Parts: sequence; C-alpha cells; structure tokens
Amino acid sequence: MSKGRIFSGMQPSGKFHLGNYMGALENWVKLQNDYECFFSIVDLHALTSAYADTSKIPENIYNMALDWLSAGLDPEKNVIFVQSKVKEHAELHLLLSMMTPLSWLERVPTYKDKLQQLGAQGKDINTYGFLGYPELMTADIILYKAGFVPVGEDQLPHLELAREITRRFNNLYSPIFPEPQGLMSEAAVLPGIDGRKMSKSYGNTIPFASSPDELRERVRMIITDPQRIKKTDKGNPDVCVAFKFHKLFNKEEIVEIDQACRSASIGCVDCKKRLAEKMVHIMGAMHVRRQEYEGKPEKIREILEAGTERARKVAAATMEEVREAMHLQ
Ligand code: SF4
Repeated sequence: MSKGRIFSGMQPSGKFHLGNYMGALENWVKLQNDYECFFSIVDLHALTSAYADTSKIPENIYNMALDWLSAGLDPEKNVIFVQSKVKEHAELHLLLSMMTPLSWLERVPTYKDKLQQLGAQGKDINTYGFLGYPELMTADIILYKAGFVPVGEDQLPHLELAREITRRFNNLYSPIFPEPQGLMSEAAVLPGIDGRKMSKSYGNTIPFASSPDELRERVRMIITDPQRIKKTDKGNPDVCVAFKFHKLFNKEEIVEIDQACRSASIGCVDCKKRLAEKMVHIMGAMHVRRQEYEGKPEKIREILEAGTERARKVAAATMEEVREAMHLQ
C-alpha cells in the first residue's frame, strides 16, 4: 500500500552525470516502490536561470527522460511528465504570487548566493522569474496535493517556504492543501574524478550515459593518493579519491582494499580496475535499459504524453477547487 503521494522534479539542464544520479535519482528509484510518485521534468524552472538560450530544451528533456528510464523509474508505476505541458503549474504559480509577501522570497538563503554566483558567470538573473522560483516550486508540489517531497538538507529552506505559502493559502481561502513534509534522504555525495565537487563546469564528471568502456576509462582517470608514486610506496586510502568511490560502489571489499593499499600489496592501477568492474556490474542493468530506449524518441514521447495526461487530470481537479475557493468561477 502507498505511504502517500510524492512530488519531485529535476531541471533539464544538460547531460546528467553519476553525481546527479547518486544525489537524487537513486533515491527516487527506491521511493517508487512505497509511494505514489509524480516525477516532473521541470523545464519552466530551467528558464528561471537559462532563459536567454532555450534551443537545447527539447534535447535536454529527451535525454533526461532517457536517463530516468535507464535508471529504473517505471513509467507505469509513476507519473512521469514535462512541467510546461501541464498549464496549471503556471496558473497556480500566478495565483500564489498574488498572496506571497515579497520579503518571504527575498529572505531565502540561496537566493542572494545564487544571484551572486550566476552573476559572476555573466548571467543576469535579476528577474521576477528567478525571485519567484520557490513560488513555482510550491505550485508544483501542491498542485498534486503531494504530502511528501524528497529533500536534502540544503533544500529545507525552500520547503519551509512552500509550507508557509500553503498555510497562507489555506488560511485566506479554504484549507484545500496538505502542508508538504520533507522526506529527508541521505544522498551519497560523489566527488568528481579530480576530488572536487562533481560538476560539468570542472570537466570532472562521469556521464551517467557512459558505456562500460567509457566508464572504465573515466575510472582509470580518478586521482589517487598523490604521495604514492611507485607501486611499492605504501598508500593512504583516506586521501584517495578512488577509495571514496570504493566506499560507495564496492562496500564489500573496502576493508581488504584499505589494508592492501596501506601495505602496498595492491597497485593503484589494479585497485581502480577492481572498482571499474564493480561499477560496470552495478550499472549493467541501467545500460541494458538505456539500449532498450535509446534512439527511440517516439517511445519516449509516448511515455511522457501518457504521464502528462495523468498529471493533467489531477492538476485540473485541483485548480477547480482553487478557483472556487478564490471566487474565480
Ligand atoms: Fe587509492 Fe587504491 Fe591506490 Fe590505495 S591502492 S591509493 S586506495 S587507488
């Protein structure tokens, strides 16, 4: 039996990497067994910071759907859809924006940080849309009356604001919406192959769509203990990036590898080969599923359209209640 309804989304902002998978998608794949899940490719959110060039959005949506299906999200079990195809997201966002004090949006801690960070990259996001990002996020969640939202620690302020906006609506008009609760996930943080945060802008990612050989090649490039020059040098796994990967993908062998590294009975090349084979094995099922869908845009389109239909029905029913509560009939 379902434990409740979840809404979650991801921006289609380009090629997905293994760090993104470990950060959220891996958790979604587990959640789909216990919850009724609405998973949305939130293309309108992508516009809040990347409005100037929208030409890649269709391709990015296709790739994101392919990544999700490869990861194991079941399109029968879950409602998988594209946000902008359900116009009620925009409508509810507008209505919520009428009653949300500006100060609530301005005080979101990530707002000023991101403004500066993206400003430094030459992006002008001093826009109404970017400030209203949490408003749109609130509309996304409550449109489906989702009781739960999977969140990491850093997203808690956004969720708190969503709850405040929901309360305000319920108090002003009618108690239509449940206040969404956070489902805290202990997402594993995967470093990039150079030890920094895994990020496209650093060029240190392992693409989620890697073939087994591409995966082996990227693992071969992961940096190790910088003090270990020769195979006979004793290593220190605590400062080795490859060892961090072992901890995530090869838990069964970490004690043995730790000892073998410290006693120099294993070399880094062999150590990383073992890691690569483990990762190839773990990602094998995803690779098979990817091949099932790859190059079949029609099939992906059908899945997204079916999901959109299911989402629309729920969204339209909610908006009927909202309009009635706000005397917009
Ligand atoms: Fe890292 Fe393995 Fe080399 Fe030790 S042997 S430094 S754990 S790659």
